[in-house]
Amino acid sequence: MNTIAKSEKSDIALIAERITNAVMEHRLPPGVKLAEERLAEAFKVSRTKVRHALTVLAKEGLVTLYPNRGAFVASPSVQDARELFATRRLLEPEVVRKVIDRAGKAELRRLRAHIAKEAEARLANDRRAVIKLSGEFHMLLAKLSGNPYISKLMDELCPLTCLIIALYDSPQTPACPEDEHIRIVEAIELKDEATAVSLMLHHLQHVENELKLSVDEKVDIDWEKMFA
Ligand SMILES: [Zn+2]
Repeated sequence: MNTIAKSEKSDIALIAERITNAVMEHRLPPGVKLAEERLAEAFKVSRTKVRHALTVLAKEGLVTLYPNRGAFVASPSVQDARELFATRRLLEPEVVRKVIDRAGKAELRRLRAHIAKEAEARLANDRRAVIKLSGEFHMLLAKLSGNPYISKLMDELCPLTCLIIALYDSPQTPACPEDEHIRIVEAIELKDEATAVSLMLHHLQHVENELKLSVDEKVDIDWEKMFA
């Protein structure tokens, strides 16, 4: 990767970003093949650049590369989904605490503006935008926390969460329940750390509970009866 020229690097980042956006908006479903030549045509770039972008996304877990078969949008397992939410429950209370510590008027305005965009997308029934904006709310909070490591992790975990929602959510349930982001921001504005942290934990648990993550659990299948 270090042999790539600077201008190419930005191309690669752009391709990776656009594929990530498509995943976040559920336009690219889990398990879909990402054919290099078709992406190269779509982005009007070389296949080499596409390959590099797919390698970047594979490192983030959003894409799975199979030898001789190519790249596919990842399909996180139920176990992956549970581990991901467990990780977010570790990180995001710290995010909320740091945002309360640091956020001034400008930061609070950004959070409010984001929530307004979410409400707008909900009103327009734009499910793709709602899912993407829901994820981006958490990425914005992480960014405002001022911890670059957490922010980087959340930039990877949020698109993965969108993939998990695409896999395990029922189409009717929203990505993040409507008023929970607003209540978190209100607690942040009041600098009420205990409430903000508890709302965030409750929120993540709520999103996880909405998913159908019980499919991997042991079921008693009577094979003989089933195929009798
Ligand atoms: Zn949320």
